[in-house]
Amino acid sequence: MKTYKIAVIPGDGIGKEVVPAAIEVLDYVAKLDGGFQFEWTYFPWGCDYYLEHGEMMPEDGIETLKQFDQVFLGAVGMPELVPDHISLWGLLIKIRRELKQSINVRPAKLLKGLQSPLRNPQNFDITVVRENSEGEYSDSGGRIHQGADEIAIQNAIFTRKGTERAMRYAFELAKNSRQHVTSATKSNGLTYSMPFWDEIFDEVKKDYPDIDTAVNHIDALAAFFVMKPHAFDVIVASNLFGDILTDLGGAIMGSIGIAPAANLNIEREFPSMFEPVHGSAPDIAGKGIANPIGQIWTGKMMLDFLGHQDTGTKVLNAIENTLATGVKTGDLGGTATLEEVKNAILNQL
Ligand code: ATP
Ligand code: MG
Repeated sequence: MKTYKIAVIPGDGIGKEVVPAAIEVLDYVAKLDGGFQFEWTYFPWGCDYYLEHGEMMPEDGIETLKQFDQVFLGAVGMPELVPDHISLWGLLIKIRRELKQSINVRPAKLLKGLQSPLRNPQNFDITVVRENSEGEYSDSGGRIHQGADEIAIQNAIFTRKGTERAMRYAFELAKNSRQHVTSATKSNGLTYSMPFWDEIFDEVKKDYPDIDTAVNHIDALAAFFVMKPHAFDVIVASNLFGDILTDLGGAIMGSIGIAPAANLNIEREFPSMFEPVHGSAPDIAGKGIANPIGQIWTGKMMLDFLGHQDTGTKVLNAIENTLATGVKTGDLGGTATLEEVKNAILNQL
């Protein structure tokens, strides 16, 4: 039997509550499948660790993580005691960068039984592939002059390799989806980076003659997310554009508490990291009322990445069937506890 070694970082706040729930579901579906199992190793890294040791994770933390197949993370952050830039850069961004997780994937799908803030949404099912390591989020730039003449410069860095990698991954996903890729651009306003982005998109799409494509400027694309989200299948976007689109995607699904995400090292040289979109939610932590669906759906993405798509589909179906029966936590307008939602999902499975 195949055993996957998973490093688990529950992190802070509700991360400590939703991660064990998701692990219970993953262990359960592994047993149902019969062909694989998980071996979970817990790391107590995060803000508690920082308050005790002065760092979010140990010096050799990255080397430790490299010994695992994947990383399963809850949420990190304790804004009242640890400044956000420390918790973010000392753990999340550090892992994403040092393990070269250069692709971020986030689905946005209208689940059965859920109320989208859109008035009459048709059934949408979008996957946003975001370049996760370069682009607009670079540390190249600076400030010159002072006073009234002061100028800030922020450079965006687009490499051919990084851009092409994100685009090829999007096309590969579209093959197993509805054969459509939309490129998010802004080449009418950004005169160097986005024409380069468009040029590479035109080259890459030639290798995928069966996949239909569209190119939208990011401003129009954001509007289409609200007006006609059902028109999209896979979207490929740069770091900044993808960041904005994926938050919007979470919003139109109905709650940040259900949105999943994956930071992928698609070369599989190092582990990938699976973490939901939501944060540590200090306002509801410790009350047993957090929605575990974001973390469980994130577990489904890990199953997919490990090659167990059929099992992953079962997990998502169980989530949808649970919501359709009205078992929902407070963020979705229901009254169920975390435990009740988890048990309902296990029952559906
Ligand atoms: P971070 O800085 O870590 O992203 P944040 O404060 O910006 O954190 P979240 O921690 O995601 O964002 O919380 C935003 C709001 O959404 C909070 O009111 C929180 O209670 C709610 N929320 C987030 N995740 C969940 C969840 N899983 N279940 C229920 N409510 C949630
Ligand atoms: Mg935040």
